[in-house]
Amino acid sequence: MSDDTLINLFNLPREQFESLCAQIDGKPYRAHQMMKWAYHQRELDFGRMTNLSKTFRTWLNEHAEFKPPEVVQRLDSVDGTIKWLVRAAGENCVETVLIPERGRNTLCVSSQVGCMLDCAFCSTGKQGFNGNLSTAEIVGQVWLADQVLRERGESVTNVVLMGMGEPLLNFDAVMAATRLMLDDLAFGISKRRVTVSTAGVVPAIYEMAKLTDVSLAISLHAPTDELRNQLVPLNRKYPIADLLAACRHYVGGLGEKRTLTMEYTLLKGVNDQLEHARQLAKLLRDVRCKINLIPFNPFPAAGFERPDERSVRTFQSYLINAGYATMLRTTRGEDINAACGQLVGQVMDRTRRKERYLARVRAQEVA
Ligand code: SAH
Repeated sequence: MSDDTLINLFNLPREQFESLCAQIDGKPYRAHQMMKWAYHQRELDFGRMTNLSKTFRTWLNEHAEFKPPEVVQRLDSVDGTIKWLVRAAGENCVETVLIPERGRNTLCVSSQVGCMLDCAFCSTGKQGFNGNLSTAEIVGQVWLADQVLRERGESVTNVVLMGMGEPLLNFDAVMAATRLMLDDLAFGISKRRVTVSTAGVVPAIYEMAKLTDVSLAISLHAPTDELRNQLVPLNRKYPIADLLAACRHYVGGLGEKRTLTMEYTLLKGVNDQLEHARQLAKLLRDVRCKINLIPFNPFPAAGFERPDERSVRTFQSYLINAGYATMLRTTRGEDINAACGQLVGQVMDRTRRKERYLARVRAQEVA
């Protein structure tokens, strides 16, 4: 049973959970007991949380719940990748992708229903936008994947906020969710293994630097403002120089070392030439970062193509020779449309973008 008036306890990072428990029966440590039940023992039924008092359990039954998102569909790829479609923000659905690879289980989590940004080469943007996910809906994706992995004696080892949406435009919910991912009483994942990926919401990067040490990934995709303006419209608001200054601030702060990755989707004939690699190497000279190259993953009426393997290798070699740790992201889960930029979910669009996109797809089918 579920009821909108109940507090979903998956929304609460440790401190908020403690203050709730303190209010109810003066015992903040109840939060620790319950987090262990929910996240470690995977027990969501208050009735079975045997170390809680009966009166406390009665209060919980009337006012609260641990409610993970509902799974609408699960698709298994031939390569072991799993994609779930989960209900979020009312009647909408978002996608979550689990990528198992040699000793690692990386979960790609969504943060919004659709996306407001409309990057030229990303199909999520074409679905338009409906709204933000709650902390519980973000954390719940990790909880669900963990449930499946536990059956094999494994767990989620890495989380990347690289699913649908722009995480830094849903700042508070995303920051609370990452706190739970890091918290030993919840998922206990190391901060290097939780990555927030952004198209470059500059002020939010400075805010992030005050709150967290998680890894940061920047969807750069172009070495010049002229080209980036076309690919990532947000660049008109926050141009490359401002973005890199924010990145230097994030990794350059005192204290613990933070990790920074530049993501670069390679689009044939658009940003994949040797000249672009040269400009990129020069641009990132004084930014401590790795580079992650992602060959473009196609979708209907995208208007871009994936470069051939040789030019991808040439691009990568140039950057490696220039001294950058440069990884090539292998495409996973393509048979179930689970690769980067292919996540679409079910978005009750509030913009007119989806309508225009579908008209383009239809026109192409007719032609
Ligand atoms: N909004 C955030 C989170 C999305 S992450 C961000 O922009 O970082 C998804 C990553 O996949 C981003 O780097 C994005 O630019 C990249 N991507 C999007 N569409 C793609 C496509 N069709 N092929 C390859 N990579 C794509």
